[in-house]
Amino acid sequence: ASGINFSKYDNIPVKVTGNDVPPGIKNFTSADLRGIIVENVKKSGYKVPTPIQKRAIPVITAGRDLMACAQTGSGKTASFLLPIISKLLDDPQDLEFGRPQAVIVSPTRELAIQIFDEARKFAYETYLKIGIVYGGTSFRHQNDCITKGSHVLIATLGRLLDFVDRAFVTFEDTRFVVLDEADRMLDMGFSEGMRKLMTHVTMRPQHQTLMFSATFPEDIQRLAGEFLNNYVFVAIGMVGG
Ligand code: ADP
Ligand code: MG
Repeated sequence: ASGINFSKYDNIPVKVTGNDVPPGIKNFTSADLRGIIVENVKKSGYKVPTPIQKRAIPVITAGRDLMACAQTGSGKTASFLLPIISKLLDDPQDLEFGRPQAVIVSPTRELAIQIFDEARKFAYETYLKIGIVYGGTSFRHQNDCITKGSHVLIATLGRLLDFVDRAFVTFEDTRFVVLDEADRMLDMGFSEGMRKLMTHVTMRPQHQTLMFSATFPEDIQRLAGEFLNNYVFVAIGMVGG
């Protein structure tokens, strides 16, 4: 990843709306991220934050909900993983079985695995446990991830809802919920699944919800309005419906 040239993104339009929007950051060092996280980012070969990372990281560290739109390949994964991992370390909470402290929902197994790999790199040499569950493999095996407990649980939506239905996962300790690739989940017919998930999540009053998408069609705008509170909207580049 160190060879990727993101400077081509420097002149693309940025749209940011919301109340009291935290200012963007110029580099990882000036972000409100723990030292170990900044070190792990450097180890990953990231030198400067991408435009979505510059805008999204300070919004999340400030404790706000977020709707973020930026094209595929623009670095959305790190823009939520870095502040979430850093904030979990800032304010440690005992890990309980079946009670993830951050939940990241992905439309596909492949994407979930990519997020998992990045999360492990960013959480390197911390005590945080990262878990993953997805469909298409035995429930029993995946259940290990849950029963052993994960601070950060990465999941495909369908499998996560299975665990929720069986009461193997609850959101009582969940401080962060990320809906990644929300537009893709919508295209796959998961809007009711997302609503069902959010109904469970909102039983816990104190949490941040973060939505990420490559496009911003009306249906996503509607879901953002339903799921997010006093949120910041960030769009990088052209994000038509
Ligand atoms: P998106 O989720 O927006 O499609 P990803 O988060 O998957 O994009 O990132 C695309 C690629 O860019 C990945 O290989 C990732 O490791 C790399 N990347 C992300 N942020 C940076 C950065 N700041 N510097 C260098 N590479 C980065
Ligand atoms: Mg992505």
